[in-house]
Amino acid sequence: MSREKERKRKILELLKEKERTPKELADIFKVSLMTIYRDIKELEKEGLIERKHGTISLKEDESSLQHCVICSKDIDGRFNVILFLNEGKKVHACCPHCGLMAFRKLSDKVESIIMKDFVSCNPVNAFTSWYVVGADISPCCSPSAFAFSDRYIAEKFSKGFGGKVLDFEDALEEIHRLMSLGTRIKLSL
Ligand SMILES: [Zn+2]
Ligand SMILES: [Zn+2]
Repeated sequence: MSREKERKRKILELLKEKERTPKELADIFKVSLMTIYRDIKELEKEGLIERKHGTISLKEDESSLQHCVICSKDIDGRFNVILFLNEGKKVHACCPHCGLMAFRKLSDKVESIIMKDFVSCNPVNAFTSWYVVGADISPCCSPSAFAFSDRYIAEKFSKGFGGKVLDFEDALEEIHRLMSLGTRIKLSL
């Protein structure tokens, strides 16, 4: 684990006990305020902490109170997606399926997207993740989409459960294609 990573992990642990100021954190780790601010900024971007009146605290787990911007389902922390929009706004989606749909709608406003890796549950950058779209199982919305930080794991998953392994751009297209197929079938009934 890199020093930065290790420090950020410890910061989260410290914040579990109580709120801290950046100065306190810098003193504890014996690093410059600038370094601490950089850690804080990154943790903030990952949606893990928040700043209020000069103190840093762990972000309340707001995912349980959130609804999906696409299907308005309650958000389950295991699959949730956060889309960070410009002007510091963000919206939540229940799973990569809705996350990708939300990006199609909001793309020009989206600055970054954090998804959960299906295996590790770690937050990952959606733009560089791999997706299995249209697998036989769909724990949330269908056609299902699963996010993986590792292409090899995505391929193993799709060998077991079907679906296509795609990068972000192609996953967007594939979800859209499958959704419009669904609509067409419905209309022809
Ligand atoms: Zn949804
Ligand atoms: Zn969903």
